[in-house]
Amino acid sequence: MNNFADKVVLITGAGNGIGRATALAFAQQGASVVVADINRADGEETAAMITQAGGIATFMLCDVTKDQDVQSMVEGTVETYGKLDIAFNNAGIEIEQSKLADGDEATYDKIMDVNVKGVWRCMKYQIPALLKQSTSAIVNTASIAGLGAAPKMSIYSASKHAVIGLTKSAAVEYGKKGLRVNAICPAVIDTEMFRRATQNDPQKEQYVKSLHPVGRIGQPDEVAAAVLYLCSDLAGFTTGVALPIDGGATSI
Ligand code: NAD
Repeated sequence: MNNFADKVVLITGAGNGIGRATALAFAQQGASVVVADINRADGEETAAMITQAGGIATFMLCDVTKDQDVQSMVEGTVETYGKLDIAFNNAGIEIEQSKLADGDEATYDKIMDVNVKGVWRCMKYQIPALLKQSTSAIVNTASIAGLGAAPKMSIYSASKHAVIGLTKSAAVEYGKKGLRVNAICPAVIDTEMFRRATQNDPQKEQYVKSLHPVGRIGQPDEVAAAVLYLCSDLAGFTTGVALPIDGGATSI
């Protein structure tokens, strides 16, 4: 399939997990993909996976907490490929593992800086480039933790609620300009983030799996499929949604 031929796609956090799977999926459908990540080795590996399979990709080093990095990433995308059609703002961290009263300010600031301000900053620089196309799309990675509680991850949960607020507001602001802005809300997905959270704790792993009515956690390519749908013409009337990709978890 070549559904994204001639499209230029920018993905943050594309060195691993959901971001990598989505970069590979867009490239398989003909897109030119900018693979952005704070981790050079991982990002370069994703870009190499794409080019070795015959696709088009460029790695750009970017820490979404740094204004200059984000500005350069967007400018570099337009310089390299001539335009920007689609942005997937996916970089995020989960570092917190305690109840709210045991949290500290440094953890709060770090999570908010990456998960919220990072998405805001990316959209701030992407939107002027996206509006130069007659149609364009942004997908931001929230979480089911953006739709409800996340015990021992209250700051993370607040950060993902904020991502949904940014998404809906931008969708309304730019709806008439051909730019659609949506969020995805994955439940637990089989990535390094999930493995870090459950390592050395088989009980927690079992508990996490039991949260999903389908009886298993999700795979990164199942999230990628939803991102591609939201960025495709098939979703032309869909904007401002926070789409659960959750094996039924939010239906309970
Ligand atoms: P991951 O840890 O496997 O990958 C995250 C990637 O983001 C890494 O390559 C990392 O280097 C990069 N990154 C981290 N901080 C960055 C920064 N400041 N600037 C640029 N890149 C940075 O995680 P994942 O599971 O693929 O998660 C991707 C997104 O999905 C995150 O926003 C996460 O909160 C969200 N999410 C994950 C799950 C899950 O269960 N895995 C569930 C819901 C939502």
